[in-house]
Amino acid sequence: MRHLPLSKPSPIAIVRSVRAALLTLPVALLTALPALAHHAMGGRPIATGYEGFMSGLAHPVIGLDHCAFVVASGLVAARRPWGVVVPVAFAIAALAGTGLHLQAVDLPLLEGTIALSVLAIGVLLAWPQPLKSGLGPTVALAIAAIVAGIFHGYAYGEAVVGVEVAPIAFYLSGFTLVQLAIALGARTLANRLTPENAMPLRYAGFAIAGIGAAYLASALGA
Ligand SMILES: [Zn+2]
Repeated sequence: MRHLPLSKPSPIAIVRSVRAALLTLPVALLTALPALAHHAMGGRPIATGYEGFMSGLAHPVIGLDHCAFVVASGLVAARRPWGVVVPVAFAIAALAGTGLHLQAVDLPLLEGTIALSVLAIGVLLAWPQPLKSGLGPTVALAIAAIVAGIFHGYAYGEAVVGVEVAPIAFYLSGFTLVQLAIALGARTLANRLTPENAMPLRYAGFAIAGIGAAYLASALGA
């Protein structure tokens, strides 16, 4: 059977328009940042387990800085034996970070460090030479993820300062579950990419680095 010639856009045109969309995203973000609502309960303290759980589920998704890092932690873990330890280490460290906040330990330069972590992991993904898949780089990634997780988790803790123990426990399980779901989902998708077809990972890296840069500019300006 003969096929009618379809006027399909060339792959290069598709790649160009995707790239253009991704590169304009950070600019759009930068203008929208002050308006981004960050906490699900809109400033009202969390009162019940249900609210704690929902707020925990929402925070890493609504907070685009957190979301970008969580996605990236899954992407860097792709096609890497034991790579799964990277997002898991991040998730566990985030719990510790919230704990530090609740212990009233002071973490300096919170917003800037979170923004920097997003920028750094984005650049790592966008880098032309992918990181080697050996155990050494995986351990280094996991350690970096732990440091980043402490800062992101500390920021999560802001929403539950002065809240009862039970809603806090639900809040912790909410953000841990959603982070693992997003990161492991991103890893599963990225695992399907072959080394020859790794460009989508690099484009994701560009977008994530752009988000980090936008947040960094906002943190420095504040
Ligand atoms: Zn946040």
